[in-house]
Amino acid sequence: MHAFAHSGEDEAFRSELCAWLAAHLPAEAVPEAEAERHRFLRAWQRTLAAGRWVGVHWPREHGGRAASLQEQIIYTEEMARVRAPAILDPIAVNIVGPLLIRYGSEAQRARLLPPILPGDEVWCLGFSEPGAGSDLASLRCRAERDGDAWVVSGQKVWSSKAHIADWCLLLVRTDSDAVKHRGISCLAVDMRSPGITWRPLVQLSGRSEFNELFLDEVRVPPANTIGPVNGGWPLVRAALAHERGTLWAFEFKIRLQNAAQALVDLYRRRGIGALRQDVAQAYIEAQIFAAHTLRILPRLHDAADAPPEAALQKLFGSEIQQRTCELAMALLGPDGALSGAAWQEAYLYSRSVTISSGTSEILRTLLAERALGLPRG
Ligand SMILES: Cc1cc2nc3c(=O)[nH]c(=O)nc-3n(C[C@H](O)[C@H](O)[C@H](O)COP(=O)(O)OP(=O)(O)OC[C@H]3O[C@@H](n4cnc5c(N)ncnc54)[C@H](O)[C@@H]3O)c2cc1C
Repeated sequence: MHAFAHSGEDEAFRSELCAWLAAHLPAEAVPEAEAERHRFLRAWQRTLAAGRWVGVHWPREHGGRAASLQEQIIYTEEMARVRAPAILDPIAVNIVGPLLIRYGSEAQRARLLPPILPGDEVWCLGFSEPGAGSDLASLRCRAERDGDAWVVSGQKVWSSKAHIADWCLLLVRTDSDAVKHRGISCLAVDMRSPGITWRPLVQLSGRSEFNELFLDEVRVPPANTIGPVNGGWPLVRAALAHERGTLWAFEFKIRLQNAAQALVDLYRRRGIGALRQDVAQAYIEAQIFAAHTLRILPRLHDAADAPPEAALQKLFGSEIQQRTCELAMALLGPDGALSGAAWQEAYLYSRSVTISSGTSEILRTLLAERALGLPRG
């Protein structure tokens, strides 16, 4: 069946979700201030979890609905239609949970999975380091065995939500002699462990969602190793595949189409003739992205690893997002800089989207080599 042809069962899923949303969607707007925003989003995630409406792609035995691709599409469409707030911890629900389900031990699943869906425990990702971003396999944060513990020392950077996280999915080097991606392990680290400190990084918008993370002889039980020792690299690939995977692509499609429509509405109000062609071009690009997303969704969904199309979508979508925001700021003129309105926040944030989950340069290289078969540069 095609990704967007829905069966009667799918429509029953939609009706159940719509009825639930009609009864539970919060009437209030998401608060601006960070602490209140986190409280609000945690309460919303807990409500969703009580109705089994968060992590719908998780297996039933872990609190999900084992949702099919069609059901996940419906879920994303309906949440966007009613403008449902985000959840507090998409990283845990979409990346950490699925990794634990696939690679975790029985004991790890029993301890770590239940608090994820209701947002009772928050996770951050300790992957990037000051000298290891695009070339993640060159990471240097080290874990050495000392009796009954790993002893971890090193630095991470850009760790989203580390300042509110209970756990960190941490990549460490456990064998310095092996080929670089063969000496990496993945640990679940309790963020309250002695020896962990963090420093917030202030963004262009004035918010601080990211942190530098410092680990100084942090003791971690070996039972917290996820997957085999020195076998952490496949987990990294799975995490990245998810960041460029099905749900991301579909959510992004909706977001870009909404942004293109908002841009058209903005043009109607501001009417700057010199930008008319650019607005039409932005609208066309959002439609192309949408059509391409629908075409490749089944392939993204079925692939164990991210296929080259996922890189193409991430590259194209992030660059469209930047152009759309730049155009909105041009239409707003000085008002855009003064207003503190949604477009300004979106514009400032959009500078980061061609960096996170693979920079545009890295994605172009990947496409050149893996999709086009061009010789290595
Ligand atoms: C919004 C956001 C959220 C993030 N959240 C997290 C998180 O929660 N946890 C986490 O661990 N990390 C996170 N990151 C970090 C992110 O994964 C890295 O920023 C990304 O991998 C790029 O690494 P870098 O910043 O070290 O840049 P570098 O790798 O140093 O790259 C610098 C520049 O050099 C270019 N470059 C590098 N290598 C090559 C090459 N071989 N060929 C051509 N050009 C090259 C890059 O394209 C880039 O323009 C986040 C980043 C952002 C922006």
